[in-house]
Amino acid sequence: MGVKVVKFGGSSLADANQFKKVAAIIKSDDKRRYVVPSAPGKRFSEDIKVTDMLYKCAEQAGSGIDFSETFGMIKDRYNGIISELGIDMSLDDEFDSIESELKSRPAKDFAASRGEYLNGKVLASYLGFEFVDAADVIIFDTKGMLLLEETVKAVREKLSGLPNAVIPGFYGRTTEGYVKTFSRGGSDVTGSIIANAVKAEIYENWTDVSGFLVTDPRIVEDPDVISLITYRELRELSYMGATVLHEEAIFPVRSAGIPINIKNTNKPEDKGTMIVSDDYDFSTEASYTITGIAGRKGFSTINIEKAMMNSETGFGMKVLKALSDNGISFEHMPSGIDTMSITVDSAKLEPVREKVLAQIRRDVNPDHLEIEDGIALLAIVGRRMKNTRGTVARIFAALAHARINVKMIDQGSSELNVIIGVSEHDLNEAIRRIYDMFINSEKQ
Ligand code: ADP
Ligand code: ASP
Ligand code: MG
Repeated sequence: MGVKVVKFGGSSLADANQFKKVAAIIKSDDKRRYVVPSAPGKRFSEDIKVTDMLYKCAEQAGSGIDFSETFGMIKDRYNGIISELGIDMSLDDEFDSIESELKSRPAKDFAASRGEYLNGKVLASYLGFEFVDAADVIIFDTKGMLLLEETVKAVREKLSGLPNAVIPGFYGRTTEGYVKTFSRGGSDVTGSIIANAVKAEIYENWTDVSGFLVTDPRIVEDPDVISLITYRELRELSYMGATVLHEEAIFPVRSAGIPINIKNTNKPEDKGTMIVSDDYDFSTEASYTITGIAGRKGFSTINIEKAMMNSETGFGMKVLKALSDNGISFEHMPSGIDTMSITVDSAKLEPVREKVLAQIRRDVNPDHLEIEDGIALLAIVGRRMKNTRGTVARIFAALAHARINVKMIDQGSSELNVIIGVSEHDLNEAIRRIYDMFINSEKQ
């Protein structure tokens, strides 16, 4: 019998009622044998995620501030779920040991990981499944890089012979024995690794929306669901801010040819989004010209002007060296005869800003050099764009109509995406206009 690995996000496990939905989903299919939970998320929009409260505890503990009030709120969340579900268990010993660990060594990753750890304990008990501590199977090197081979081996050893298990998401341990987390949203990555290790027939990622949507539902009201998307398209969209799936969650399943199905815990009957291999045969599927739109704020562009720079050997290399010498990678670098504009992450640039400018001035002696902050990047992604003429013209028309100034444009060599730079304050409107141009108008 095939195996399905199922990951449930924070909102899917935010309270006892959500736990009941999750249990019903798992119990309705015997193949759903391995379950990866997140920590309890928000129950309503102003609520605080358990993970955020845990980060706060670590911060308070690190500064010698009493964190018992914050920790008390966390205990209440779990105790509320346990009592409402009527499970015969207590987390009191766990709470005590976490509290004393945080007092003696307030490590951020350890603190944050306890959200998933405790939720895993509760869910395992509720389902009657074995609890497998992710610290025993998800292994990082001392620099914090995942050791995939060791991890897969450990997962297989641990899970072989277990008909069912709950493995908390988001964390593992380093070879030195310290708890280490993935970056935020990392339970998706754990699920993907487990799916790879057990050779799952499918990785189901259960969340609070009915699949991957054409764009962020907080920007466009009720956007269309993308029923089929390739790994490559998804990666482009995730990287650019479509946060529904952690971008690092793609590699482990993609390499093993395992499809991902994004599903809605609150509407399990909806088909959701199926993420399929890049060579999937779409010939019988109807789809829009574009697959999705995503945007991210927090970029700066370094604009350089120098007459005839394109004929100066080594110009670009010297500019890029100024970045790499200061530990900065770049996102995009369109250039003209006399101009070059490099888009970088503002937060990474900030501490070395003056050093980078000084080095560029020294090494290439530009006529003009400036940094523009407050840039947002917008990705318009779609496998069909390659064979459809006029896509870029339509994007420009949509933005021009709204008087949105395009600061940068870059079309990837794969022609899978077009990246546009706009002012941060224009981002949401730009997304709405492009959505109208490609989705609403093609629908009619
Ligand atoms: P989980 O807690 O289940 O991991 P996340 O909050 O990480 O869920 O991801 C789901 C959320 O991602 C949705 O509630 C939605 O607000 C947001 N989101 C942003 N872009 C998209 C998109 N293109 N499609 C679907 N959801 C998106
Ligand atoms: N709980 C973690 C976070 O809030 C990980 C996750 O939800 O995937 O980022
Ligand atoms: Mg998530």
